[in-house]
Amino acid sequence: MGTEDLVSKGYDIPPEIQGQVTVTTLDKIYNWSRERSIWPMMFGLACCAIEMIAAAASRYDIARMGMEVMRPSPRQSDLMIVSGTVTKKMIPQIVRLYNQMPEPKYVLAMGACASGGGPFKEGYTVVSGVDKFVPVDVYIPGCPPTPQALMHGFMTLMKKIEGQSIKDVSWYQKAPSTPLPIPVLGPDLMNPDQYAKIYAATHPAASEADQSESEEVQA
Ligand code: SF4
Repeated sequence: MGTEDLVSKGYDIPPEIQGQVTVTTLDKIYNWSRERSIWPMMFGLACCAIEMIAAAASRYDIARMGMEVMRPSPRQSDLMIVSGTVTKKMIPQIVRLYNQMPEPKYVLAMGACASGGGPFKEGYTVVSGVDKFVPVDVYIPGCPPTPQALMHGFMTLMKKIEGQSIKDVSWYQKAPSTPLPIPVLGPDLMNPDQYAKIYAATHPAASEADQSESEEVQA
C-alpha cells in the first residue's frame, strides 16, 4: 500500500517522508526477496544441461532474475534443476544432494527424462521420473526444453513462492524436516521406503511365517 492510500485511510504521515512509506505483509516482502535471489545448484546430468547452460549465458541471462549465482555446494543452493536423464546409478547421489540443501528448497524437473524417463523410460538403467524419489515443484516438458522454456519454469516457480506463507510452510515449523531415504543401488535400485514390500516379494516363506506368527499373537 503506497503513501497516497495510507493518507486516504487516515494514517498521519509527515509530509517530508510521504512518497517513501509503504506498508506490506511480512510474507510478501520475504517471498519477494527469496524469489528474486534463487541460487541454483551447479550440476547437470545429460543433454538438457546444455540448454540450462545456454539459459545462463548472455542471450537469455538468468542474472536478470537474480539466479546467476550457481552454487557448487548444495549447502548454499535453493534450487535443484534436474537437467537430464536420471540413471539408477545417479539417483542415490541426487537424493543425498537434496538432503544436504538447506530449507526452503525447490526442485525443477527439466525435460522429458527428469519428468518421466523420456525416451529412455523403459531402459533398465533409468529412473522413470525423479519425482519417485524427490518432491518436484515444477515440471518442464520438452526434449530438450529450450532456454525460454526453462525461464518459463523459473517464473512458474516464482509464482509458487509468491503464494507461500511462513504460517503454513513445512520448513518454517518448529520440528526439523526429515531427510529423504537414500535409495540403494544393488542388483537393482531399492527404495528404503519399500523394504518391507521387497522383503515380502523376495522371501515369501519367511513373510508367510511372520504373518501367521502375528495372527497367533493377535488371537
Ligand atoms: S529430455 Fe531429451 S534432451 Fe533432455 S536429457 Fe533427456 S534425451 Fe536429453
